[in-house]
Amino acid sequence: MLGTLRKIVQEVNSAKDLKAALGIIVLRVREAMASQVCSVYLLDPESDRFVLMATEGLNKKAIGKVSMAPNEGLVGLVGSREEPLNLEHASEHPRYRYFAETGEERYASFLGAPIIHHRRVMGVLVIQQKERRQFDEGEEAFLVTMSAQLAGVIAHAEATGSIRGLGRQGKGIQETRFIGIPGAPGAAVGTAVVVLPPADLDVVPDKSIEKSEIEAELALFESALQAVRADMRALSERLASQMRKEERALFDVYLMMLEDSALGGEVTRLIRTGQWAQGALRQVVSDHVVRFEMMDDAYLSERASDVKDIGRRLLGYLQEARKQTLTYPEKTILVSEELSPAMLGEVPEGRLAGMVSVLGSSNSHVAILARAMGIPTVMGAVDLPYSKVDGIELIIDGTRGEIITNPAKVLREQYLQLAEQERQLSAGLDVLRELPCVTTDGHRIPLWVNTGLLADVVRAQERGAEGVGLYRTEVPFMIKERFPSEKEQMAIYREQLEAFHPLPVTMRTLDIGGDKSLPYFPIKEENPFLGWRGIRVTLDHPEIFLLQTRAMLKASVGLNNLRILLPMISGIRELEESLHLIHRAWGEVRDEGMDVEMPPIGVMIEVPAAVYLTRELASQVDFISVGSNDLTQYLLAVDRNNPRVADLYDYLHPAVLEALQRIVKEAHEEGKPVSICGEMAGDPAAAVLLLAMGFDSLSMNATNLPKVKWLLRQISMQTARELLAKVMRIDSPEVTHATVQLALRNLGLNKLINPSAAV
Ligand code: PEP
Ligand code: MG
Repeated sequence: MLGTLRKIVQEVNSAKDLKAALGIIVLRVREAMASQVCSVYLLDPESDRFVLMATEGLNKKAIGKVSMAPNEGLVGLVGSREEPLNLEHASEHPRYRYFAETGEERYASFLGAPIIHHRRVMGVLVIQQKERRQFDEGEEAFLVTMSAQLAGVIAHAEATGSIRGLGRQGKGIQETRFIGIPGAPGAAVGTAVVVLPPADLDVVPDKSIEKSEIEAELALFESALQAVRADMRALSERLASQMRKEERALFDVYLMMLEDSALGGEVTRLIRTGQWAQGALRQVVSDHVVRFEMMDDAYLSERASDVKDIGRRLLGYLQEARKQTLTYPEKTILVSEELSPAMLGEVPEGRLAGMVSVLGSSNSHVAILARAMGIPTVMGAVDLPYSKVDGIELIIDGTRGEIITNPAKVLREQYLQLAEQERQLSAGLDVLRELPCVTTDGHRIPLWVNTGLLADVVRAQERGAEGVGLYRTEVPFMIKERFPSEKEQMAIYREQLEAFHPLPVTMRTLDIGGDKSLPYFPIKEENPFLGWRGIRVTLDHPEIFLLQTRAMLKASVGLNNLRILLPMISGIRELEESLHLIHRAWGEVRDEGMDVEMPPIGVMIEVPAAVYLTRELASQVDFISVGSNDLTQYLLAVDRNNPRVADLYDYLHPAVLEALQRIVKEAHEEGKPVSICGEMAGDPAAAVLLLAMGFDSLSMNATNLPKVKWLLRQISMQTARELLAKVMRIDSPEVTHATVQLALRNLGLNKLINPSAAV
């Protein structure tokens, strides 16, 4: 049975469109169930009727003609009750309805299963039999399994249809929304440019060559190597103005892979054994990819994609196909199955409006770069039929992690307006930059910025950040090939501290694990978010922790604007051990003759356990910073990087708001300031609530900082508190969103709020 099921799903998956997919389903399911009729009815959302879309056994002329409302017939009953129905004598059922067009009267037995995708009833799958036949439990279960599996495939085919206008008869191109993960904030409306892998390595066959041909084949491969090297260097140069040399190390990784000691050498050796260059390349690349992918680690699978990308580029030259020649429209939205930093670099300056990657998460290289460069980006758009969107209009909502294909005029206008408002705000930055973030009734709240790459620093300064609330030190670690040395770290940290001096810079100690890991320090775990993460890793490796904190302390000599922040603390003992190590590092640095003050130390509250320990933790440190990204994920048990549960991930959930209020209250009772550095702080609507809760500062990405400042400067603390009081009495996040949106609209402040946030 399992084999049959798999085969059918595979065949349906490779169908060219919805009609073909449905045709395969009815044919194969009828066969597998040894029945006389199999039909699929799909729910047409406009007419709210189940329409016969495909059948084997009934009169095919009835396709597209016969339909029934949810309160009509057995099909309607299955669809509306969302349950299977198994009847030996169908005509005796009170809901039985006869359709002459289908020639149905001859069929006595009926087995129907609803087709449901993400809670939405898409249609009904039906089996019928002439003789009276009691379908047994196993058959019923098979049909239910089949329809559950097919739901996703049908949804995918339907989405493709609505994108290209090839869906059901009479249905043209439709606006469709796809959910992904927020990669980089901001809104963009533009034209999709799909970057397909330039050459398909997987289909390259093996081919033996004569001894006499080997030299020529080696020369061919060598010239491909040269060409790809030259491309990489050129790309790296083009990004030189936006990225530090260190950060462009991403491209150096490519160059290193091409070396004789790595991939380049392996291919050469295989060619020498008598394999043609393309076949040798395929073998070497697929060996590496398999090895990386088996490691089941977010960062290393990314490395697998780097190797694939290199392989495709080399193959492109070997096949003399060169690169896909793409034209980039004025407002390009780059779409790819797996975006690479190199693809980003190929778009001519000023044309890149947004990006979409089907694979990857908010911590992929591309997302980190996109945030630093301020390009709205959606990652993990797994349901988007990406290869079909080339040339069509897209809305990218990088803040909410949504993509809208073929937007209708209204939504398009709203997003264009939002993008324009964001643009105007950026243009008017000079004025806003100099102004303090102060409410209309005089409450001052500093806005800080989150950084990682050097590019973030430049943007933060343009936007008037009053300090760094979170410098993610794992970012410079991620783009290296080994742990950076104390000296290297010192130089990187010094750059951050100097850039903001005398403003404070909060440096977080290495927070790896979860979905952030290092190529040279793989962590393979079943459940990484509940595993070896953040402070747990560095306390187990005091040599890494000591070296890092020493580098931070040395970097701040003469500046003294450093603050140290500890991630993922879940108990007092971890804090005490960390404090002990930091004091040791401080002693060592002073023993080396350097005069540096002991910096303020803070702890992140991002694990639920820490919420309940706020008072105890706060009593031992100088400040508290809430990591609302992880806190939301752990409180709600919703993976922040899983688009399937993205709808459930909500920092305005009452449980999260309760936790935040409690943290502020308890920290203040201990006389310690509290900041917040998760994405929530950069959402203007949420920032109003955080202000009212009493947060002493908000830290966010540079892109959102002007938006938050603009809004907070126009609201009074009094109004914010009233709104918070109202919100704290609400028990559902949806109502909270609506309440906040409405309040802002009534104040005339709904500008700069994403249209789709106004649910
Ligand atoms: C957080 O968890 O909210 C946070 C700021 O840290 P990160 O996103 O780096 O885990
Ligand atoms: Mg975190």
